[in-house]
Amino acid sequence: MLAAEKEGRIRSVAALYYEQSDTALAASTLTQTVQSVGTGSAVSALKAEALDIQERFSDIKGVTVLGADSQPIASTFVEDQVVSPVSAREIERLKSGSPTMSIIKLPNGSLGVVASRPVSVDNTFVGTVQFVYSADALLAAMNNVEGLGQSGEYYLLHRADDGTMVVLTPLRNDPSAPLTQRFTVSDPRRPSTQALENRQATFTNLIDYRNQPVLVATRYLDDLDWGLVVKQDRSEALQAVRSLRDLIIIFGVILTIVVFILSFELTRLIVRPLNRITEATKRYARGDFAQRVTVESSDELGGLALSVNHMATELQSLYTTMEQRIRENTATLEAAQEIAHVGSWRWNPTKRFMEWSPELFRILGLDLLKRPTYRQYLERVHPDDREVFEKMVQRARTSGKPMSGIHRIIRRDDGSTRVLEIRGERLAGSSSRNARLLGTARDITEQYELQQRQREFVSIASHELRTPITALMGYLAMMKNGAPAERLPQFTDRAFDAALRLSKLIEDLLNVARLEEGRTTLSYELIKPSKLVTEVVRDLRPSFAARKTKLTYKDALKESDRIRVDSLKLRQVLSNILDNANKYTPNGGKVTVETFRSGRHVAFRVTDTGIGIHKDNLRRIYDKFFREYTSLSVKAGGTGLGLFITKELIERMSGQLAIESEQDVGTTVTILFPRRQA
Ligand code: ADP
Repeated sequence: MLAAEKEGRIRSVAALYYEQSDTALAASTLTQTVQSVGTGSAVSALKAEALDIQERFSDIKGVTVLGADSQPIASTFVEDQVVSPVSAREIERLKSGSPTMSIIKLPNGSLGVVASRPVSVDNTFVGTVQFVYSADALLAAMNNVEGLGQSGEYYLLHRADDGTMVVLTPLRNDPSAPLTQRFTVSDPRRPSTQALENRQATFTNLIDYRNQPVLVATRYLDDLDWGLVVKQDRSEALQAVRSLRDLIIIFGVILTIVVFILSFELTRLIVRPLNRITEATKRYARGDFAQRVTVESSDELGGLALSVNHMATELQSLYTTMEQRIRENTATLEAAQEIAHVGSWRWNPTKRFMEWSPELFRILGLDLLKRPTYRQYLERVHPDDREVFEKMVQRARTSGKPMSGIHRIIRRDDGSTRVLEIRGERLAGSSSRNARLLGTARDITEQYELQQRQREFVSIASHELRTPITALMGYLAMMKNGAPAERLPQFTDRAFDAALRLSKLIEDLLNVARLEEGRTTLSYELIKPSKLVTEVVRDLRPSFAARKTKLTYKDALKESDRIRVDSLKLRQVLSNILDNANKYTPNGGKVTVETFRSGRHVAFRVTDTGIGIHKDNLRRIYDKFFREYTSLSVKAGGTGLGLFITKELIERMSGQLAIESEQDVGTTVTILFPRRQA
């Protein structure tokens, strides 16, 4: 920058010198005179004219005129004091029509500037006019070292004919330098060389003529063919940089401290309270409302903390209410599920997530688990039903249609088999690849069994009814179609028997239906058991007599012993038991009826010496329509409903029934009723 400025300065000083020479040249006839140099009188004319110019222009110290061969022809200087040599490089420039400028030592020892102007006629170079000035203006410009500190300096140089670099201006440390200091051009990288080679360069680490490390910048002034060098001692130049660096460090330290203090204050005033508020809101989001934010100031932050606290209080009460409601609703739902034996489940097969309601665990006989699995459910499904079950689930997963089915499970705890009705549906919005299902499982064992029994009952009842009807119709048809007269009484008897069986069956069926539907009404009274038994035995004696079976009644009850029953129904019960004893005892057998006290009860016991019941069938004799098929039982006939009705009636009247039997030995039927007093 300094080099560029100095370059401009020198150019303008040079321009001033040139301007004056132009003026002087224009004011004289020197140009024409130079043309006629060939004629002998011209030399003295030249000299006179030069002297004239020198006198008219006070700044001009002397004028010299050179011929086409650049040798002096005339000069205002005394002969041996002509000091305006022209170098070969200058001659070149002059011949091509460019003015040149050089520095010389004046006769008084001071420095002078020589501005040489070429003179041409018809484009032919005929000579040069040299104007010599004092170099003061140039030196003043050069000596101004403002901005270069203690050690900085400028100097100009040019290339001499012998190729050396000649310093043109005084050096700060060497006033005798002009025209005496020379550098040989041994190192082309020297700044002087660079300057004269027309290069703008900067050097940061060079040793100068004083053996000092220096910083250097160069410029080339092409119109003057001068090099300009600016240099300063490295130590001084870097001193500024160093001080700047120190300044930056100090400034940096101060800035850091200030920033630290500011950020500390900022943290204390804003960040920390904000953090506290953020932490609190995070806790609230998790449902933890225990703590409130401390309000430390009354500014915006304090206001924010207050509203956050207010929000927390509101949320907390809302949360508590919601929680309470959810708890109540869950409890209601669970209770309802327990009452209805309905469990519910949620299942996301992709995420392997399964959730069961507590009732579902109870239904399956499992302990409550946090993470039940589909496999655990499948393990409980009855092996025979598994395949169908899995297909149903698969269909619901893929098709999205609701699923519904009945399957058996084997409970884990007691190993019992239960029947479940399962229903489920894929949740809206879930695809077959990412199915989420929701459903219920209901324990319908009792209803299922009842349904089964009813279905069975209807099928057996219709079958049982058909048998006597077919017989009845058969005999009637034969009679109608003219059966032989002698067989008519037999046919009539059989038709009557069939009608009787039919009537008995219908009677029993009606009884069963009434009992099962709970339509049987009982009218209780306090009765004397012995009296009732005596009457029943008396009524049945003829049918026992017909089979030659001995019927005995032994009464061990006290006179005051009573029971509270429906006497008609108890009569029906005892008749049925005695009828069975008679039916299933071969002719000539023995049937004993006993009544006695048994603890707090009154006992009725009927013992026969009949065919007995096979032990495998003992459990089943109370089942509707169950009959043991022996030759005797087939002959005896029956509906298989008697004992079912008997047991039901006894239990309705708070009594108990027990049957013991041994095949081919006999059967003992015992009934107990709570004993009362008259
Ligand atoms: P049924 O009308 O066939 O007598 P019940 O319900 O009264 O029907 O009896 C059921 C079955 O129990 C009978 O078919 C018979 O096989 C058997 N049974 C009942 N009582 C006796 C008994 N005293 N001795 C032998 N078997 C009996």
